[in-house]
Amino acid sequence: MNLETVQAVKELLSTPQKMVIIPHKNPDGDAIGSTLALWHFLQNRGQDATVIVPNDYPKFLKWMPGSDQILNFEKENHQCRNKIENATVVFTLDFNHLGRVGQLEEPLAEAATKIQFVMIDHHQAPSDYAKIMYSDVEMSSTCQMVYNFIEAIDGVDKITSEMANCLYTGIMTDTGSFKFRSTTGETHRIVADLIDRGAENTEIHHRVFDTNTLARLKLLGVALNNMKILEQFKTAYITLSQDELDAHNYQKGDTEGFVNYGLTLEGINFAVIFIENKEEGIIKISFRSIGDFSVNEFARSHFNGGGHNNAAGGRSERSLQETALHFESLLEDYKNQLAV
Ligand code: 5GP
Ligand code: MN
Repeated sequence: MNLETVQAVKELLSTPQKMVIIPHKNPDGDAIGSTLALWHFLQNRGQDATVIVPNDYPKFLKWMPGSDQILNFEKENHQCRNKIENATVVFTLDFNHLGRVGQLEEPLAEAATKIQFVMIDHHQAPSDYAKIMYSDVEMSSTCQMVYNFIEAIDGVDKITSEMANCLYTGIMTDTGSFKFRSTTGETHRIVADLIDRGAENTEIHHRVFDTNTLARLKLLGVALNNMKILEQFKTAYITLSQDELDAHNYQKGDTEGFVNYGLTLEGINFAVIFIENKEEGIIKISFRSIGDFSVNEFARSHFNGGGHNNAAGGRSERSLQETALHFESLLEDYKNQLAV
């Protein structure tokens, strides 16, 4: 964080504010971890703060301290709108474009014309809705940035065990358990410090990764069965139809991590999952790569999405089958990048 940003935040926090803290739609471990850690920090500083999620998030994140205080814009719409209308500051975390918050876009865009926005985020190509911006694409996670944020504002001694548990979770999930390239020595030093401050690392891994239902494991079986390998492009992709999800009592978060199985195959550098969402009328897509192939650019160019170099998401309005065929037809143009 640069000095100017730190100064601007300190000034903002020097008087009582009404704050709302917003993560992206379909919030993941980093989105929930970072917003809750910031929420604990701001509350401990005597600020009036509320976390509002655009929609629901997986059960395996609901143990996080403060989770029961989160408002859901889909379920508590009126209350959320009131909070945003009365807010004096909006924090947006783990995204950098107002198109990433679903139905919250309209009330937030309206608020952005009137009040201060603070962005804390590690995605590429931030848009300019926030006057105070802490944006760094080198960071492993927004949680790592919230750690830096607290350190810069008040010092790390203000990190409680609640915050440590939240921050550890987000760093763990966004780094694929500390293995992605964004994981640095500094990431490990921060994680070590979080354990010293009360992050229950073993329990967190258990709560996030070892609380499968049998239905979810069987859905994984279907996904693996559906996997198609395109050897000439070093690519593997999975499709899951709404019917397949329904047959396995699909719950939010059940498909989390499925896409990564493609990358565990030797010789595969590009893995994709296409998941049908009949309610929204779209195919939600996750892209992952190993090495230099930028899935962020691929998602941006062809699937109305974005993200990071090695992990990105997007969507398609074609049918599941047409989306997969369209995807296959695009690969020839990337052969030089993929088949290296
Ligand atoms: P996931 O595939 O796990 O949903 O997302 C991977 C990464 O891409 C995350 O950093 C996420 O924020 C980003 N991402 C996922 N979906 C979208 C999307 O539709 N648009 C953009 N811009 N980013 C996305
Ligand atoms: Mn993140």
